Amino acid sequence: MFWQESFGMQLEKFLSAEQFMLNAPMTEHTTFKIGGAADVLIFPSSAEEVSKIFKLVNMFSLPLTILGNGSNVLIRDKGIRGVVVKFTEKFFGKMRCDGEKIIACAGAELKSVSSFAAENSLTGLEFACGIPGSIGGAIFMNAGAYGSEMKNIVSKVTAVALSGDILEFDKRDLDLSYRHSIFQKNNCAICEVELKLQRGNVDDIKNKIADFTRQRESKQPLEFPSAGSTFKRPEGNFAGTLIDKTGLKGLQIGGAMVSEKHAGFVINAGNATAQDVLNLIEEVRRRVEEVYGISLSPEVRILGEE
Ligand SMILES: Cc1cc2nc3c(=O)[nH]c(=O)nc-3n(C[C@H](O)[C@H](O)[C@H](O)COP(=O)(O)OP(=O)(O)OC[C@H]3O[C@@H](n4cnc5c(N)ncnc54)[C@H](O)[C@@H]3O)c2cc1C
Repeated sequence: MFWQESFGMQLEKFLSAEQFMLNAPMTEHTTFKIGGAADVLIFPSSAEEVSKIFKLVNMFSLPLTILGNGSNVLIRDKGIRGVVVKFTEKFFGKMRCDGEKIIACAGAELKSVSSFAAENSLTGLEFACGIPGSIGGAIFMNAGAYGSEMKNIVSKVTAVALSGDILEFDKRDLDLSYRHSIFQKNNCAICEVELKLQRGNVDDIKNKIADFTRQRESKQPLEFPSAGSTFKRPEGNFAGTLIDKTGLKGLQIGGAMVSEKHAGFVINAGNATAQDVLNLIEEVRRRVEEVYGISLSPEVRILGEE
């Protein structure tokens, strides 16, 4: 495609060669290890670079997709047209501590930020230690576990709008609720997150992290690629329990399978295509609805060309 070459030439003016790729297979950039290629994949290293990239995207009239660690997405088999901007720990993962606050760049992984909080005797982020996402993705999803969620600890977010403008959001502007934030509507790229934590005892914090890690390892199929819980929690119920009680553990379509260990997870049991996963999601929804009259909706974000 001609535009890819000329877009690449524009990127070369302000990014290093390792910061962008053409025709990048998304199997390598998602925890599901599924997905066709992205036309252009970019790893920015500052909000200013993101702003420049967005201005170019507008100039070329390209579709834009934003990714963090790729742990809550299913990328379709045809891949992603246009530009994917991916926030990684390597290029966009700096963090610092200021009193009881932690300020982290969007690509910082939750496990790194929670260890950093522990090292600084700050409590409140332990719940996130085993969530394999970036801090930016965690704000976008209002990620949560073990009775807490990002909503409880975030105080400020800096983001870049599609226009290229750098904007600040106060906690009250974020519209955070169960697996929801304002960023699901406004197309901004989260670049920096400020967390307000509390002073705690290092040993207590580390013990809590160890305990949550043990619980996760015993209950979740971490040995297989997945995107975590496939479905949102339906009101007053648990998707995993409904799927289990419908007898769907182990149900397999192609390489996609309902985990035997945790029915809430669809896993890539070996060479699954996105279509296998989509077909399995549909089948699970149909059968749970038939038995319980409850319609499950996916928590996993489905991206890419249909
Ligand atoms: C084994 C496993 C366990 C999990 N356990 C949990 C759990 O306990 N609790 C939980 O809530 N989730 C869990 N998840 C799901 C996932 O890790 C979280 O939703 C996480 O917050 C996603 O972050 P990410 O960086 O991987 O985002 P991605 O998957 O890359 O993206 C998710 C969405 O966020 C958007 N996005 C990502 N980064 C940005 C950004 N910087 N700016 C704007 N938009 C952005 C993307 O466009 C996409 O729509 C689990 C996943 C796995 C694989």
